[in-house]
Amino acid sequence: AGMDDQEQRFRRSVANMADAPIGARRTTERAPIGDSFANTADSDPALPATRQWAREAVDRKPKELWSPVLKSTGEVDDVVAKVKGAVAGWRAKSAAERAQILRAVAQQLEDRRGEFITVMAAEGGKTVEQGDPEVSEAIDFARYYADRALELEPESGSLATDGARFEPVDVTLVTPPWNFPVAIPCGGVIAALAAGSGVIIKPASAVPGCSELIVEACHAAGVPGELLQAIRTKENEIGKHLISHADIDQVILTGASETAEMFAEWRASHDGGARVYAETSGKNSLIITPAADYDLAVADLVKSAFGHAGQKCSAASLAILVGSAGTSDRLMNQLVDAASSVRVGYPDDLSTTMGPVIEEPSGKLLRALTTLEPGESWLVEPRKLDDSGKLWSPGVRDNVQPGSFFHMTECFGPVLGIMRAKTLQEAIEIQNAVDYGLTGGLHSLDEKEIETWLDNVEIGNAYVNRHITGAIVQRQAFGGWKLSAFGPGAKAGGPNYVAQLGRWLPDGEPQ
Ligand code: GLU
Repeated sequence: AGMDDQEQRFRRSVANMADAPIGARRTTERAPIGDSFANTADSDPALPATRQWAREAVDRKPKELWSPVLKSTGEVDDVVAKVKGAVAGWRAKSAAERAQILRAVAQQLEDRRGEFITVMAAEGGKTVEQGDPEVSEAIDFARYYADRALELEPESGSLATDGARFEPVDVTLVTPPWNFPVAIPCGGVIAALAAGSGVIIKPASAVPGCSELIVEACHAAGVPGELLQAIRTKENEIGKHLISHADIDQVILTGASETAEMFAEWRASHDGGARVYAETSGKNSLIITPAADYDLAVADLVKSAFGHAGQKCSAASLAILVGSAGTSDRLMNQLVDAASSVRVGYPDDLSTTMGPVIEEPSGKLLRALTTLEPGESWLVEPRKLDDSGKLWSPGVRDNVQPGSFFHMTECFGPVLGIMRAKTLQEAIEIQNAVDYGLTGGLHSLDEKEIETWLDNVEIGNAYVNRHITGAIVQRQAFGGWKLSAFGPGAKAGGPNYVAQLGRWLPDGEPQ
């Protein structure tokens, strides 16, 4: 079967990208990554073998995985004490032994890929198309952080020079979000283990099974049973007791900026400092200039806006069209076609490319899906597709105004806003005007525009001529600026992430 015209154009666009500059903070779609990396974020999950196997996985009901919700602060204390008690044994191992176990975790994740995809689909509505690369990302984290563990050992390490010595902390609490219920908790758990710490994971309440599976996989790989435990609590007094616990040395959080602030406040009087490492919200945009390849730009925009129903901190929530891009019928028609042909459904239908949102929309998301602001109109009006209230078709709001609700507010769902700017400079001002600074993109084949953008944009992950979601471990370390970052945190999947999860003491200082 020959490629159709659309596909040929798309291929040509990608081929052109081979000439685009690659450097710090510049990423293109097909730059090579190490062979050991499993991340298939760019590959086609519809490979027949994967499909058949995923089909079987999705058809199985997830087993009763989760441990009971803890009901008293005493029960929390018991778990914390158990983990703390197991830390000496973990420290007694060499870094090489720990790294070997973490590599075995990567293998466990690979062996259980289907189970992870199943549980993500069942609990979080994540499609197979999105769940499959997420497992790959978790595997990448395990391998990458295993290597970083080796660097912490003084005799072999590049980090442990300059008269400083790495001193692990005892207990790390990982509080992951529901939107990446496998990759993000795996990243936190494995980084903390690599740094020599014991770990408690508190799953997001919508997706507890995913965290339980991670714990199971780690234990099967040789992580000592007591060293890593899951705790389920509600966000009540017991949750607060856990988060502010005197024997929990640090917290790795991915969630709303408000949650990070609350955690830091709860931990403010902590002996070793609050030590909250948080990756928080975003309000991300993709700029398209007249020098862009519109075919490629639209494909990347739709992927970034509606992947996992827009429920990614990294999602494109706004497109800022510069000059004649803003009046291009061709671009607009393509966008309408692309947004309207997203296949919305449930993950058990493997042709689904966009699943349900996590819960019936309320608040900001409901407003974004149902109410226009002055000056706006629907380019594609979102529709509620069934009685669950969770299944919505994608929406595109046109003429979003600078300073308006939709320009400034993270809504976390399948709605994209279109804004217009006369010049690239004005587009960058619109992009930078939000309080957050997580991801963002520029589509332009003009070298000078690319330079200008990279020099001026205030975001952590800046993508040129690529979709703006799906950061790849090691290649695109992930983390934001401004309100998208909290505390001292190094970027996830980057060279300093593990090294920050302990204390650096002058050599010779007693333990
Ligand atoms: N790391 C993910 C990405 O690059 C986003 C994580 C998040 O939504 O918190 O798309």
